[in-house]
Amino acid sequence: MSSETIFDKIINGEVPADIVYEDDISIAFKDVNPQAPIHILIIPKKPIATINDITEDDRELVGHLYVVAGRIAVQHGFAKDGYRTVMNCNQDGGQSVFHIHLHLLAGTTMGWPPF
Ligand code: 5GP
Repeated sequence: MSSETIFDKIINGEVPADIVYEDDISIAFKDVNPQAPIHILIIPKKPIATINDITEDDRELVGHLYVVAGRIAVQHGFAKDGYRTVMNCNQDGGQSVFHIHLHLLAGTTMGWPPF
């Protein structure tokens, strides 16, 4: 599954997004359908369809997504209160866009388990 997704269009600037962070290898933007008061998606610019497609070569890149999540949490002032990161995989995981993305959810107290 390497076909272009809506996230490639956001990376290329073909589709607008509310971008909160960007560097050479990643970009973070507000989710268009937020599931929490703060809902940001952090994605690699490299198109990787699912968690199953992550390889050893991607270790640094995927780790970087979490570094970015922590930076955004500090910059947006919710690091201390807390937040949740989620990466869904395939149908049972609830994945709908096949370009891996870290959901960063914050601004409320979340429950567990998530189903
Ligand atoms: P998934 O279900 O794959 O884990 O998450 C995909 C997320 O992408 C959803 O939360 C959905 O709201 C978000 N999304 C889908 N299309 C767009 C879009 O065009 N712009 C933005 N900002 N978010 C999108």
